[in-house]
Amino acid sequence: MLILVTNDDGLLAPGLRALHDAASRFGEVYVVAPEGERSGSSHAITLCEPLRVREFGPRWWGLSGTPTDCVFIAINHLLQRRPDLVLSGINRGPNLGGDVLYSGTVGGAMEATVQHIPAIAFSLVSATDDYPFSHAQPHVAHVLERVMRHGIPDGVMLNVNIPAPSLAPFRGYRVTRLGRRIYSNDVIVRTDPRGASYLWIGGTRVTMDMSPQTDSGAVHEGFVSITPLRPDLMAHEVLGKFTAFEEEDTCL
Ligand code: MN
Repeated sequence: MLILVTNDDGLLAPGLRALHDAASRFGEVYVVAPEGERSGSSHAITLCEPLRVREFGPRWWGLSGTPTDCVFIAINHLLQRRPDLVLSGINRGPNLGGDVLYSGTVGGAMEATVQHIPAIAFSLVSATDDYPFSHAQPHVAHVLERVMRHGIPDGVMLNVNIPAPSLAPFRGYRVTRLGRRIYSNDVIVRTDPRGASYLWIGGTRVTMDMSPQTDSGAVHEGFVSITPLRPDLMAHEVLGKFTAFEEEDTCL
């Protein structure tokens, strides 16, 4: 079993090491991760600048790109053969609801899905600034064990959010749908040391859908949330509503 591990918090993030260690008993683990933090990079791929790869140790590389670049370069260049499984994380913080559109952690896993390789994104949700990644490791192992046994359908990835004890005591595992998370949309304006203004996207105040079948609701109740996702962005059910767009205009 060849397992590729990436993340979006960067090569030195403790969550990356925790995921590597948890995955090690399931196969041979290779790490290709961004050299710096790339949170919020979504499914971005680097096309307009060079990518530098550096070997940091045995089966461990840093790349000057996004999580998607890491997965792409690993599969198509660095690894001797295609990985059997791609893991992304463990992210420092939640990837719930609409977060999955922005998340580099999910983006890296999604790239593997696009390449027809089973993939899982892991995130740790904490109520404080403390992120006990060792607490998340048994839950990673639990999900990996289930994936080994039951597989993941082609074209689907799993988005897993793990509650830290500071959020809620652990109560079990729940398969969920994406909840709604509404950010405050703050733009913070500050002045840099040279007197020029700069902007920072804030959005730290969040309103969440807390119904039990949602990912956000489940983690806040103490459940490890498991949400199947897919890269298909097509709005299949509304195709019929746009037939008028195909009609020729008589007045032209
Ligand atoms: Mn991150």
